[in-house]
Amino acid sequence: MSSEHDAGSGFSMELSQDLREMRDWIHEFAETVIRPAGSEWDEREETPWPILEQASKIGLYSLDFFAQQWLEPSGLGIPVAFEELFWGDAGIALSLVGTGLAAVAVSANGTPEQMGEWLPLMFGDADDVKLGAFGVSEPDAGSDVAAIRTRAAYHEASDEWVLNGAKSWVTNGGIANVHVIVASVDPALGSRGQATFIVPPGTPGLSQGQKIRKHGIRASHTAEVVLDDVRVPGRCLVGGKERFDLRLARIREGGSAGEQAAMKTFEATRPSVAAMAVGVARAAYEYARDYSVSRVQFGRPIGQTQAIAFMLADMGTAVDAARLLTWRAAWMARQRKPFDHAEGSMSKLVAGETAVRVTERAIQILGGNGYSRDYPVERWHRDAKIFTIFEGTSEIQRMIIGRAATGLDVR
Ligand SMILES: Cc1cc2nc3c(=O)[nH]c(=O)nc-3n(C[C@H](O)[C@H](O)[C@H](O)COP(=O)(O)OP(=O)(O)OC[C@H]3O[C@@H](n4cnc5c(N)ncnc54)[C@H](O)[C@@H]3O)c2cc1C
Repeated sequence: MSSEHDAGSGFSMELSQDLREMRDWIHEFAETVIRPAGSEWDEREETPWPILEQASKIGLYSLDFFAQQWLEPSGLGIPVAFEELFWGDAGIALSLVGTGLAAVAVSANGTPEQMGEWLPLMFGDADDVKLGAFGVSEPDAGSDVAAIRTRAAYHEASDEWVLNGAKSWVTNGGIANVHVIVASVDPALGSRGQATFIVPPGTPGLSQGQKIRKHGIRASHTAEVVLDDVRVPGRCLVGGKERFDLRLARIREGGSAGEQAAMKTFEATRPSVAAMAVGVARAAYEYARDYSVSRVQFGRPIGQTQAIAFMLADMGTAVDAARLLTWRAAWMARQRKPFDHAEGSMSKLVAGETAVRVTERAIQILGGNGYSRDYPVERWHRDAKIFTIFEGTSEIQRMIIGRAATGLDVR
């Protein structure tokens, strides 16, 4: 077949020139700035503001960069960027991309005016870097998002929404400039009665609760957020009140509500989370591979034993398999193809579990050194575990995939 014919066949596994250049640019930042700082910020358990500033200066931490990658025609902009960032260090990388979840929550369902007003305030600029945060989870509502108790009440006279409740586990919670909060407007309707609200910078009543001390991704700030009579202007309901009222009216009449907003956000971001996990897994695989070639025992490199080489073979294969599922889901999402077989969940499930397994195997290959904090693989293993928990646990992903497979209401 001619190459012209190939080009027209509509299928290619090759990244475009733009994507390759972007990947190499991010990789350089990950290699020279992020990775060398990983251990320090893990120990400090703080948001690495100086690195955010550096990333902002070069345009990497910016609305422009994120928007450009989200809109990249193949859908692979975000997965390619995230894999490289998380290859550098997951905690620091999560600080660099945590704002993305809040940004997606507004851009997936918001009006053009809301995007124009609030997204820039989530990123700030190189002289004054800002963050965004997205709060759904609560102490009694983790996997069961329908159970959230945070309430939003509309006050017609002042055209304001008043939010009351508490959010747990909010990435960037309390330190973000803009918080995006899911609250229940009509509790009787469960998740269908929920809406998403933007809380503008400095709004009285929103405060940080306890900061969580974590097992991994410790350079990413996670905290409770308390909402005590938080009054936000009517225009802060994501998507607008008119659309929301219409939706509620349809539901009350027994019609379909379409997808619930928070779930839509998570579905759209799942391949991105999978790409984060692929980055951590690849880092551990490459590190263990290089170590196995240089570490000599019994007069030969340990990589020359089948025990180690076979482990590496499984690790490398698993990383590539996870990436392929991730790229497929990201491509489908960008082409607006429905995830009929829960392809987004498949990517997140496989990549998350691969990251845990591959980082654990990497520790095994490094032996005692793998267990030491002087080597990065123990940190990467701690970091990897988050990918089977947040944005839907592995069990919840299996539930979604199982439902798609059987058509049954698997619970
Ligand atoms: C570091 C970190 C950052 C986070 N960032 C954010 C954030 O920015 N915003 C946000 O809103 N949330 C965030 N989260 C919350 C995260 O999304 C939840 O932790 C997650 O959804 C799981 O909820 P849970 O912790 O309450 O666990 P639970 O829902 O209590 O689950 C406990 C266990 O039960 C299992 N389980 C529950 N229901 C079922 C079922 N029906 N079938 C089978 N198994 C089930 C789960 O899989 C899990 O193994 C973050 C969490 C962490 C740890």
